[in-house]
Amino acid sequence: MSLGVFISVGAWAKPTVMIVATGGTIAGAGASATNSATYTAAKVPVDTLINAVPQIQDLANVKGVQALQIASESITDKELLSIARQVNELVKRSDVNGVVITHGTDTLEETAFFLSLVVHTDKPIVLVGSMRPPSALSADGPLNLYGAVALAASPESKGKGVMMFMNDSILAARDTSKRINIHTNAFSSQWGALGTVVEGKTYWFRQGVKRQTTQSEFNIENIKGDSLPLVQITYGSDSMLPVAYDAYAKAGVKAIINAGTGNGSVPNYLVNTLKNLRQQGLIIVRASRVPDGFVLRNAEQPDDQYDWVVAHDLNPQKARILTALALTKTSDTKEIQRMFWQY
Ligand code: ASP
Repeated sequence: MSLGVFISVGAWAKPTVMIVATGGTIAGAGASATNSATYTAAKVPVDTLINAVPQIQDLANVKGVQALQIASESITDKELLSIARQVNELVKRSDVNGVVITHGTDTLEETAFFLSLVVHTDKPIVLVGSMRPPSALSADGPLNLYGAVALAASPESKGKGVMMFMNDSILAARDTSKRINIHTNAFSSQWGALGTVVEGKTYWFRQGVKRQTTQSEFNIENIKGDSLPLVQITYGSDSMLPVAYDAYAKAGVKAIINAGTGNGSVPNYLVNTLKNLRQQGLIIVRASRVPDGFVLRNAEQPDDQYDWVVAHDLNPQKARILTALALTKTSDTKEIQRMFWQY
């Protein structure tokens, strides 16, 4: 009798973590163990990923769902919405304590930020990838997965929002990006890591202040269909042509994220192009091609006068996500600017 009670209490105490597999290098396969950078992404199914790291079952009851099997550079808004809907259903289940999403590293930051904006939960959602496929010498996926499950299973992760776990670091979805494309320390944030995981234990050092998850005004449950308002990015350099902007406008984009030089600058010979597009109703968002810092409003460029928006510290790809979501609610530039200050 008392043994039965003990067993049922013990089983209840162990959290359940769902692994939502989407593909990427963490599920990749190379021809030989020395192929650490030459391989095919999105090959290995979720059960094989889970069984390759049996130690995660000591941290939680771990179960897998194969949501997609794709290299993340091929993810479109359709897949993004599908991942969000699947994760949303999982976090609503009373028997699920946390979710880990295995994902390609190329666009992991977009998916993480999107989920942080549209899934309303205080349960931990952790995105994890790897830079080397499981078939490579010193593959980084297994330890990344172990740490991600530890993070998702930890009671301390509750209310911390959507996180990434790569290379021992706990990273915030909104301000972390892939900044090295060849080494295992690929991800970082200019504002630093939230914490770290060592041998399956979480250690915390800071917390974000921006709106996300339960504090967000966006909700996947209110977004219908499998596309988002069309938003595209233009990349700044010297000697630019206006044709890219005009082509996007012709294609029907609702907003252009201008990944400008320096402070998101627009060259003098393109100002009229962007002013005209704004007059035609397109939203113009000034982001920067510089990875760190943030875009100052009304500095070199008179944003108030031109009715442009600045992306603050969000990089162009994250600005695309927030602008697309913003456009599901409003096309008022003051409202969209407010969102960029708050998220
Ligand atoms: N191209 C791969 C992907 O994003 C790279 C990776 O996962 O590291 O799916």
